[in-house]
Amino acid sequence: MEISLSRMHFPVTTLGPGNRIGIWMQGCSLRCKGCLSPDTWSVKNNGITVEVLVEQMKDWLPFADGITISGGEPFEQPEALHSLLVAIRKISQGDILVYSGYEWHKIESQVSAMKGLIDALISEPFQVKATQTKILRGSDNQQLHMLTALGRKRFEQYERTMTTKDKVLDLSVDETGRIFLTGIPQRDDMQRLRLLLEQQEQPLKQLKK
Ligand code: SF4
Repeated sequence: MEISLSRMHFPVTTLGPGNRIGIWMQGCSLRCKGCLSPDTWSVKNNGITVEVLVEQMKDWLPFADGITISGGEPFEQPEALHSLLVAIRKISQGDILVYSGYEWHKIESQVSAMKGLIDALISEPFQVKATQTKILRGSDNQQLHMLTALGRKRFEQYERTMTTKDKVLDLSVDETGRIFLTGIPQRDDMQRLRLLLEQQEQPLKQLKK
């Protein structure tokens, strides 16, 4: 089974409890206004088989507390998602969190068909105008569904409002030097980051003159 993959990363510490393997699926037709991952929208032919993907995860698994699958939109590749979940369950005791931009009533039957494979799921589209006070969510309309006993045990702690002590972003650099921000930024984080980088650029430009 082929899966269209955007990227994979370990460790991710801001998308669920502990050190997690993050898997971002490629392709999303929902086009939420203000989406911070438009690079994952297009459906590209960068497929990888679930077997190869799982093989690549194996070195990380002994150190991983859980797996977070996001996108893109995982439910736009339902068969690949199902196959990936089955494969992960066979080799990991960690919890599995899945993000979806679909409203719960649109994916509920698909989630039921995957019973026991997803421990927790965050549904609903990102709404840039909604408030953002809840941990793990980009906007307060997003709903956390705890679907298994393990899901309830690990994710009950996230049914609360965010505090200033909560870490919300990881920064990582891949082997090609590309920089990734992982997690759920606060509404003005990206604007502040942009300003900061512009301020860093100014002295460099002056030096080059
Ligand atoms: S569902 Fe996620 S990836 Fe898709 S547009 Fe909305 S925020 Fe972006």
